Amino acid sequence: MRLGFHISIAGGISKVVPRAVQRRCTTLQMFTSSPVQWQRPLLEPDECQQFAEQLAARDIRPHFVHAVYLLNIASPDRQLWQRSVDHLAEELRRAELLAAAGVVLHLGSGGAGGSVNDAINRGARALNVAREQAETSLPLILENSAGAGNTVGSTIPQIADIVGQSQYPEHLQVCLDTAHAFAAGWPLHHREGLDKVLEELDTTFGPQRLVLIHANDSRAAFASRVDRHWHIGQGKIGREGFRAIVNHPRLRDIPFIMETPGTEADDLRNMRAIRRLINKEIQPPLPPARL
Ligand SMILES: [Zn+2]
Ligand SMILES: [Zn+2]
Repeated sequence: MRLGFHISIAGGISKVVPRAVQRRCTTLQMFTSSPVQWQRPLLEPDECQQFAEQLAARDIRPHFVHAVYLLNIASPDRQLWQRSVDHLAEELRRAELLAAAGVVLHLGSGGAGGSVNDAINRGARALNVAREQAETSLPLILENSAGAGNTVGSTIPQIADIVGQSQYPEHLQVCLDTAHAFAAGWPLHHREGLDKVLEELDTTFGPQRLVLIHANDSRAAFASRVDRHWHIGQGKIGREGFRAIVNHPRLRDIPFIMETPGTEADDLRNMRAIRRLINKEIQPPLPPARL
C-alpha cells in the first residue's frame, strides 16, 4: 500500500521531491503550475527528467498531476469551455514530460439551472478534444465531486455517462475522493456501505479503472454536498470509517493520496494517523525522512 500527499510546487519543481521525502511519501500528486492562474511557466525538459529520476531513485511511484481548479469542462460558456480544453491538452503534455501516471481532473459544472445531461455532454466532448490536441495516450483520471453548485460527478452514473460518451474510454480512469463521496451521500463511512460503493464502482467501471484514492476526511456532514477536507480520523468519516477504508482488501494496491489542510506538521500528523489505522500485517514500511 502506498501513501502520499498532494505536494506543493511553490518555488519550483525541484522543491517537490524534498517535500515528499520529508512527509514519508511513497506516492504523490502535484500541480504543474499555480492552481489559480491560467498562465504558467514552461517546463524545462532537463528539470523534468531530473525530477522523474529523483522520484524513481526514492521509489516514489506512481505520481499524478492534478489539473488546475480554474478548468470547467462542463461550462456552457463557450470561451471558458475552449480555454479549459486547451489547458487540459497542455496539462497532458506537461504530465507526460514529468513522467506522471495521469492527469486528475474535476468534471466541472453546468451552472445554476442548467441541464445535467448537457453538462455531461460538454464534459465528454472536452475530454475527446483535449485528448486529440495533446496527442498522447496518458490517462485522464476523473474525480468524483461533492455535488456543490451543480458540479458533475457526484454520482457514479454521471461519471459512467462521461466514460460512455468518450471516444477514448480506454484512456479514462477514475479517482475516488473519500470526502467528496461522503458529502455526496455515498455511505463509505461504514464497512457495509463501503462494500456497496466499491462493488458499484467495479460493476460500473470494471476492475482496472479505479487507480487512485484521495484520502480525505470530511468536515462537512454526510450528504451535505459541501466540499471541506479535514484531518484523517478527525472529521465526519472518522477514525473507524477510515480504518475500514484503509484496510479494505479491494483498495490494497491503490495509491492513497491525502489532500488534507494545513502545514507540514499537519501532514506529518495525518501520515501518522493514517498509518496507525492500517492493520499490522499490511502496514507498509516507513521510508526514511532524509534525502
Ligand atoms: Zn480530491
Ligand atoms: Zn475537495
